[in-house]
Amino acid sequence: MVRVNTHYQKLQAGYLFPEVQRRIKAFSAEHPEADLIRLGIGDVTEPLPAACRDAMATALEAMGTGTGFHGYGPEQGYHWLRQTIVQHDYQQRGCPIEADEIFISDGSKCDTSNILDILGDDNRIAVTDPVYPVYVDANVMAGHTGPADDQGRYSGLQYLPLTADNDFCAPLPAPPVDLVYLCFPNNPTGAVATRAQLQRWVDYARSHGALILFDAAYEAFIQDPELPHSIFEIPGARDCAIEFRSFSKNAGFTGTRCAFTVVPKTLTGHTRDGDAVSLWQLWGRRQSTKFNGVGYVVQRGAEAVYSPAGQAQVAQLVKVYMKNAAVIRQQLQGLGLAVYGGQHAPYVWVKTPDSMGSWQFFDQLLNGAHVVGTPGIGFGAAGEGYLRLSAFNSRAQVEAAMARIAQCRLQ
Ligand SMILES: *Cc1c(COP(=O)(O)O)cnc(C)c1O
Repeated sequence: MVRVNTHYQKLQAGYLFPEVQRRIKAFSAEHPEADLIRLGIGDVTEPLPAACRDAMATALEAMGTGTGFHGYGPEQGYHWLRQTIVQHDYQQRGCPIEADEIFISDGSKCDTSNILDILGDDNRIAVTDPVYPVYVDANVMAGHTGPADDQGRYSGLQYLPLTADNDFCAPLPAPPVDLVYLCFPNNPTGAVATRAQLQRWVDYARSHGALILFDAAYEAFIQDPELPHSIFEIPGARDCAIEFRSFSKNAGFTGTRCAFTVVPKTLTGHTRDGDAVSLWQLWGRRQSTKFNGVGYVVQRGAEAVYSPAGQAQVAQLVKVYMKNAAVIRQQLQGLGLAVYGGQHAPYVWVKTPDSMGSWQFFDQLLNGAHVVGTPGIGFGAAGEGYLRLSAFNSRAQVEAAMARIAQCRLQ
């Protein structure tokens, strides 16, 4: 008899997006003429930067020639890409990271889940609430939690509430934990961390021997030059943090797939006997065994992100989305709504008016404005009373959506 991983049965059956889809479908069935505007999706909408497309076209041509063909590459990624990343994303920002500490992958979603392969099963773990659901579900699947309660909170995890009162920066875990997931700029709240806030986390982690799993998928959206883009800009982070980066949101690689994870060589975990073990070594071993690298063509595309043309094109993409976010913020504020985020992230976190629940406000916008958002409660119990609007859409659609929301709210 084949046994299954019964931890999967604790999962809350992907409640959020299916329920959003169900409500959209029901609405569309009743109003087939309605032209919905989707501001709920976390996927980019602009095409690939030309520099990336051209680099991939050239690489693809080469793959069809005897001299330019590439078979299996290094599991950790080609050195030229790792070196380019280090130069632009780390050395230029004063971060002491080296090329062999970069591990190229096909996505941060996989890396933030797969990292659990090299960590023990008895760590105390903290996540924020609201949270990017991948961190939580990966821990459920790995058997690191008990069942969920009626609010969808799993026993065995410590939830750190993100609220307007704490500026959407989580309080330090108490009692202490061994592992904490942080995401800045944040999905879903759109909040960003200051240097001082990150320093507090690094100090906390070092004093408790904890590991920070730092998701910086949205770093390119940071507008203020004073704000840190990487946890490794913070002194001491080499001893307590792993960073996840992705080309999905800055360069539109959601369908192309390339990302990377930074594991400093100085980082250690411990065996039950207290012996220190290099996490860099374990992750290298894990990737070499279970992963065969990202395609040559795609890595050439990612490399082109750092070319002068690529940098200019990525900056332009970010500008398009951030202008959308500014339009959303401005219009909703004009309606008297409290809005957060959207200044260094492509997400605006909207407080629902009149003490409405997340789903109630979702329904009001769907029915009254034909605009689709994402209910905050879908990201965690503390997201109740909020709605996430995404800036990933065309300017015209964003402006139309805001005009419709104004009409519906001002009625
Ligand atoms: C989009 C996103 C990522 C990127 O995932 P990929 O697998 O690299 O596409 C990572 N973290 C968060 C929070 C995201 O929203």
